[in-house]
Amino acid sequence: MKLSENKSLKTYNTFGIAVNASRFMLAETFFDLQTIIKNKKNLFILGGGSNMLLTKDVEQTVLHIATKGIKIINEDEDFAYVEVAAGEVWHEFVLWTIDHDFGGIENLALIPGSVGACPIQNIGAYGVEVKDTIATVKTLNIETGEEAIFDNAACQFGYRDSIFKNDLKGKVIITAVIFKLTKKKHQLKTAYGAIANELRIKAIDEPTIRDVAQAVIAIRSAKLPDPKEIGNSGSFFKNPVVDKVLFETLINDFTDMPHYVLEENKIKIPAAWLIESCGFKGQKYKDGTGVHHKQALVLINYDNATGEAILALANKIQAAVKEKFDIALQIEVNIF
Ligand SMILES: Cc1cc2nc3c(=O)[nH]c(=O)nc-3n(C[C@H](O)[C@H](O)[C@H](O)COP(=O)(O)OP(=O)(O)OC[C@H]3O[C@@H](n4cnc5c(N)ncnc54)[C@H](O)[C@@H]3O)c2cc1C
Repeated sequence: MKLSENKSLKTYNTFGIAVNASRFMLAETFFDLQTIIKNKKNLFILGGGSNMLLTKDVEQTVLHIATKGIKIINEDEDFAYVEVAAGEVWHEFVLWTIDHDFGGIENLALIPGSVGACPIQNIGAYGVEVKDTIATVKTLNIETGEEAIFDNAACQFGYRDSIFKNDLKGKVIITAVIFKLTKKKHQLKTAYGAIANELRIKAIDEPTIRDVAQAVIAIRSAKLPDPKEIGNSGSFFKNPVVDKVLFETLINDFTDMPHYVLEENKIKIPAAWLIESCGFKGQKYKDGTGVHHKQALVLINYDNATGEAILALANKIQAAVKEKFDIALQIEVNIF
């Protein structure tokens, strides 16, 4: 366990926002986590900082989880059960699964952040959500110190959502996640346009999980800004789901509006299209904020922007989308 005071968080959040933490604790073992919660209750839990916008200094004790460990705890002919410590880097774990020929999370390659955070917003990309591979989630209750195990149903997963983002937000530390991964009959998800296209370009007819992961890495690297170079937090907003009545009014006025019918009365509209239609895509502002030129869902810290300035831009986008489409965009990123 390491403790520091008055520490800059600039390199601990992918937006690169320069705020300070009064106290910063690094937990490298499960025992560190138990010891820390015995003494401190008012904690600010920080994984890879890739899904948060910091708008002010943090007065709580920042607990940065850096616990490590990947182990196969059970396997049969078809599945491997793998327990992974919360502080493992998500993408490195994905690469580990590919090396072991364990399938299920190859489409989620290159998503930044830690394994411990992956269930919180049920990370997803290219037609796959992590919930479909999570067997259980291990937690420590911050108030009582009790350990608890949540099975998949108890996690209450939804689109970019789970119980850890709602009822249990700030109440538990996720210490490890146990994944159920395929060993033989991998269920490849390659129908998503960009993946199918990438495999076609490489003339791969019968892709392996490694081929799919490599296709995803190539697509993401070409499309999304690398937070090491340009501060960002990936998709800033969720894709809104509207009812049929609103959808029919909108499609009358905006005939080219892309949409996906989820259920009879639920239609998903890409937030990126809404934002682009309001003229924000590719904009750079004097306060150092902006909207990425290739992906309008991604807000950017181009030049020493403050968290408050990025939040103000997000609110401006929400107001413009509401005004033009009568749709309330929801923020996906955790705002502090
Ligand atoms: C370039 C880029 C691309 C992205 N693409 C995607 C994408 O395709 N799909 C997607 O779903 N997301 C995407 N994201 C968002 C982000 O990568 C994920 O949400 C990721 O799971 C966040 O992990 P983290 O460790 O950085 O969490 P943090 O940002 O550190 O924390 C997020 C929240 O979880 C809490 N938390 C973190 N760890 C724990 C823990 N162990 N126990 C309890 N609470 C905890 C924090 O307190 C905070 O509230 C992207 C982000 C970036 C920057």
